[in-house]
Amino acid sequence: MSKNNNPEEDYFTRVEREKKERLKQKLDAEAAEQALSDRKELHWNRCGKCGGQMHPKVFKGVEIDICEDCGAVLLDPGELEELAGADEGGVISTIGELFRFSRRK
Ligand SMILES: [Zn+2]
Repeated sequence: MSKNNNPEEDYFTRVEREKKERLKQKLDAEAAEQALSDRKELHWNRCGKCGGQMHPKVFKGVEIDICEDCGAVLLDPGELEELAGADEGGVISTIGELFRFSRRK
């Protein structure tokens, strides 16, 4: 019997391989979490169009974020529906329906 066919050595080789796989999975998960954290920190409260600083402003009773540089508006989940509620059948409702349609894709 060759050394490679030793069942005990196979056991320890397998245990070591599984240990390395668990460590790799843990490191991959930590790297993914760090990348997500870095991305969030980089983009937090920044305009998606120009990178400018977003500032909160109350519009029709809803606090929305407006870019100080380009004027782009950022709505949090549910804010568009809140605005649409105050504008039943109007332009914002129509935009809300388009938005819901595009999210289904
Ligand atoms: Zn901007």
